[in-house]
Amino acid sequence: MSTATEINHTTANAAANKYVYFFGDGHAEGHGKMKDELGGKGAGLAEMTNAGLPVPPGFTIQTEACREYMRNGDVSKEVNRQMDEALKHLEQLQAQTLGGADNPLLVSVRSGAKFSMPGMMDTILNLGLNDKSVEGLVKRSNNLRFAYDSYRRLIQMFGSVVLDIDKKAFEEVFDNKKKQKKAKLDTELDAKALQEVIAEYKKVVKQHTKRDFPQDPHEQLVMARDAVFRSWQNDRAKHYRRINNIDDMLGTAVNVQAMVFGNLGETSGTGVGFTRNPATGVKEFYGEFLMNAQGEDVVSGVRTPVHISELEKIMPEVYQQLHEITTRLEKHYRDMQDFEFTIQDGRLYMLQTRNGKRTGIAAVRVAMQMVDEKLISKEEAIFRVEPDQLVYFVVPRLDEKAVKEDDVLTKGLPASPGAAVGQIVFTAEEAVERHNKEKDAKLILVRGETTPEDIAGMNVASGILTARGGMTSHAAVVTRGMGKCCVVGAGEVEVHEDTRQMRVGGEVFKDGDWISLDGSTGRVIRGKAKTVPPDPKDVKMLDEFMSWAEPFRRMGVRANADIPRDALQARAFGAEGIGLCRTEHMFFAEDRLPHMRAMIMATTEKDRRTALRKLLPMQRNDFIGLFRAMDGYGVTIRTLDPPLHEFLPKREELLVEITKLELTKPKSPKLKELKTVLNRVEQLHEQNPMLGLRGCRLGIAYPEITEMQARAIFEAAVKVAKEGVKVKPEIMIPLTTGLKEMANQGALVRKVADEVFAEKEYKVDYLVGTMIELPRACLVADEIAKDAEFFSFGTNDLTQTTFGFSRDDVGKILTSYLAEGILKQDPFAVLDREGVGQLVKIGLEKGRETRPDIKIGICGEHGGEPSSVEFCAQNAFTYVSCSPFRVLTARLAAAQAGATAELKIEGGRTK
Ligand code: PEP
Ligand code: MG
Repeated sequence: MSTATEINHTTANAAANKYVYFFGDGHAEGHGKMKDELGGKGAGLAEMTNAGLPVPPGFTIQTEACREYMRNGDVSKEVNRQMDEALKHLEQLQAQTLGGADNPLLVSVRSGAKFSMPGMMDTILNLGLNDKSVEGLVKRSNNLRFAYDSYRRLIQMFGSVVLDIDKKAFEEVFDNKKKQKKAKLDTELDAKALQEVIAEYKKVVKQHTKRDFPQDPHEQLVMARDAVFRSWQNDRAKHYRRINNIDDMLGTAVNVQAMVFGNLGETSGTGVGFTRNPATGVKEFYGEFLMNAQGEDVVSGVRTPVHISELEKIMPEVYQQLHEITTRLEKHYRDMQDFEFTIQDGRLYMLQTRNGKRTGIAAVRVAMQMVDEKLISKEEAIFRVEPDQLVYFVVPRLDEKAVKEDDVLTKGLPASPGAAVGQIVFTAEEAVERHNKEKDAKLILVRGETTPEDIAGMNVASGILTARGGMTSHAAVVTRGMGKCCVVGAGEVEVHEDTRQMRVGGEVFKDGDWISLDGSTGRVIRGKAKTVPPDPKDVKMLDEFMSWAEPFRRMGVRANADIPRDALQARAFGAEGIGLCRTEHMFFAEDRLPHMRAMIMATTEKDRRTALRKLLPMQRNDFIGLFRAMDGYGVTIRTLDPPLHEFLPKREELLVEITKLELTKPKSPKLKELKTVLNRVEQLHEQNPMLGLRGCRLGIAYPEITEMQARAIFEAAVKVAKEGVKVKPEIMIPLTTGLKEMANQGALVRKVADEVFAEKEYKVDYLVGTMIELPRACLVADEIAKDAEFFSFGTNDLTQTTFGFSRDDVGKILTSYLAEGILKQDPFAVLDREGVGQLVKIGLEKGRETRPDIKIGICGEHGGEPSSVEFCAQNAFTYVSCSPFRVLTARLAAAQAGATAELKIEGGRTK
């Protein structure tokens, strides 16, 4: 593929470029494989044309023209020349002229990038209409109302998309006209009323742009094309690319295509569909349409469309033809298709086909069915499922037994499965704000309908509910891709964004009220519903799918789990051990915190040991549970890591309480106690606690803590081993920067091991290793490996310290860095291969110099993210470790990485 940087942009070069590709009359200059140049839509149109399908003719202006436009603010003359030539060709073929007074050619101008970005960029329909050609359209269609409606739609779309006029200015005119004419529906405005709307729309244009609405159709075309190019750079498109890891430099193609009309009357219509059910994967012809409508009416969710099976009753022949064509398309592309069609005066036209977005469950089912149908091989099937989508198999469902019929408020369409429980928010901005304040906030975004501007809010919400829209509306398509629960088209829900209220059946819900959604049946439920784990039947299907992928996996997958329940959960998802047990999480439990605090408050080693003795049996029990759950798999337990102040009350809260008591009960013993705590809190206070007294530094300052933890581990290990369960403890020292720290803590752990084994007269095998989570540790990993028997890369802290970003409040910086394109992704989510990855490689190489077979893991959040998992697989890690719910994702990502290497497949997830 040509990229912006590879092309030497000279005039000679530009002249040699083919910018415009024609399609029509059974032949296209491009073909289906040219997605880089023609975008997904353009390549699909070319392919369908070549296959002899009924596609309205047109031409595609390739992505290089968009990149030129981004570089130079304009396209080269050659683009315009080729476009004019293609337009002439189109006019000849159609025997029409653009803007002609008799039988005018009208075109649509649509974006179409290599990767589908539904609704993110702009489209202009009915282009070519002006004061003259609208009369031509009247004659041709014999339908006054239709012609004027098309013209007013053009001015409105052109005005907002190309001329940047606020949509509201047009909506106001239109709504006023409806009021004036006492019309409830848009369709109740007659031709005369629409002519008046047109006149007022033109005034709006003049007022905002200080010029008339362009009457020259060629000028319209050039302006529309450039606006579509510009829409590649709009905020929602940028945001979508960021979430979906799409390169900002690709640019979009522009498709100019003869218009066909679905709104010519009762024998016209338009619709969208899938060759299989995109929510479940079941093989059924699936789609929605509206008679007498334009495409935007179906996808925008303004009118709720009708199921495709109805078309069979209305126009059986067209239905049959559509079914046949889409079945052929699926066979041809060997994947489930998502298609758009229009019926004009009883004649079917195909407008688009592409591989359809689907839920994780549908992805697995479709891939497996297609292997059965001999459409694809098992090896191909492995790559048909995005690892991230497997959360669908592990997302909760509603506990049906606990759902009371009375609590079901209403039912919408089940757009994206899973259950979501959360507090209502009414705007995307508020969702983002709430999320920034409280990362774990559970939110349900409630909207009339979602638009691409809502993408950031949708991303942070647990579930989405819309009052309008069908199964292919924006909310439905986007959430399905995100693996997020969604209910759409809940018609009984009234959403009042202005007063922040939702009304259902006379009941009012406010901002912050709890509701639950069932994305599998469409139910909207009052309050916090109980949820249950996923359907075992789906899990069984997944097991079979995974059995095809797993033989390619060369790398282990473990889970980060601190308590036996999570460990068991992780095992159920296929985790092969624990890669990180954060022992501090055991101390936050209610029965333990007082002892932990007593230990921290102790001023002498003796007192500290007394408190630690209380904690010992508790920790031992936790470890017993973990070892049993892991039944012979490795269990990596990290000694205490966080700074101690985290276990004490907050300084500010103490100050408030002390001041209150000084005023009310100056003699109370509580006041004395609080003052002592405050004193200790102030001693422990650090400017930069993440770089302070934490990690192995704690164990070095207070060796008795490491000793207690090591004792708890070994006593538990011996006990469980004596029961006949295999145990493999791996004690991990956090935040080392060099050999001496490692050796200090390593010696302590080994000493305790010897003591316990002697006392119990029983030995177990164990390892002592370290986390590599500071740049220095990577650089001196050869030294550290002299004592450390394994490494686990703590890429959370390594990212923090490599970038110098605080992992706790990087949010503010990230937002602008991502928006400016300074960073392509959040480095705390996707491993930064360029910087952090380089340090990891140095650490690996050095560690292996000292200990060639050293066991290497990763336990930062990256361990469950597909691109980072691929990086680890490429660098021969022994395992990745991630949260239990991401284990399936990590397993598939690791298997795909293995298959990519073994089958020598090009591409991968290189970031
Ligand atoms: C890490 O730093 O990557 C890590 C796993 O440790 P924690 O997140 O507990 O600091
Ligand atoms: Mg860490």
